[in-house]
Amino acid sequence: MRIVRTVAEVREALREPRARGERIGLVPTMGAFHAGHLALMRAAREACDVVVVSLFVNPSQFTAAEDLARYPRDLEADAAVAREAGVDLLFAPSAEELYPSGFDTWVDPGELATVLEGAARPGHFRGVATVCTKLFGIVAPAMAFFGRKDAQQVAVVKRVVADLDLSVLIEALPTVRDRDGLALSSRNLFLSPAERASALALPRALQAGLEAHRSGGDAVAAARAALNAERGLSVDYVAVADLDGLTLAAAVRVGSTRLIDNVNLD
Ligand code: AMP
Repeated sequence: MRIVRTVAEVREALREPRARGERIGLVPTMGAFHAGHLALMRAAREACDVVVVSLFVNPSQFTAAEDLARYPRDLEADAAVAREAGVDLLFAPSAEELYPSGFDTWVDPGELATVLEGAARPGHFRGVATVCTKLFGIVAPAMAFFGRKDAQQVAVVKRVVADLDLSVLIEALPTVRDRDGLALSSRNLFLSPAERASALALPRALQAGLEAHRSGGDAVAAARAALNAERGLSVDYVAVADLDGLTLAAAVRVGSTRLIDNVNLD
């Protein structure tokens, strides 16, 4: 596996495989790899000849109130995981490489980016859409792999790809969970044991919502009731929306950590 830092190095590394007609797969990430990221890398390894993983903590998708500096970073540990997963190219650019001075063009997704995560984090999806469009331009992958854990992100990226006629196939993979049901997330690292116990109400509530929906009931009401029963967290939103399929999505705060999760209702 090669680790590269610049756009020019990515293009050079992919020139020959592309000329040979090899299928290039991209897994966009912000690092702090866990089994959720690994599932995306393995899927890319299965489906593609060349696997590129980008590792970039994208400043433009963090809102002013969020602590970009607090996001976990460990390139060495991540490189070891990626190598083990059979990744060919790890692209870990600096912020200046992707946003050089004079950078002034943004991809601004519409209505879908203004609800749920978009309402809670204004500008978040503009940052996501812009960096993904740039990565698609740099790597020119045949396929890009995303996790359903971020269902709204999948929906926004698919919208961008359709609206801008980008020639990349978006693959969405199921959420990987810990044995106790909590969806894996880099942010779980911030939870104390007591906070983690409270956080388990989130997957429980989504499951309750799914069961209510299946028996003809109100998914949102059932999920909200389960969340309200847990004192250790505060609810940001619980909603049903079409996020690449009918989805019950929720965001909660546990201490200083914000967690999101969702289940597909289809
Ligand atoms: P991140 O590094 O958090 O930006 O995530 C990179 C990719 O991994 C995104 O497509 C996420 O949706 C996906 N991902 C994160 N957590 C999980 C998970 N628990 N299961 C599946 N995919 C995930």
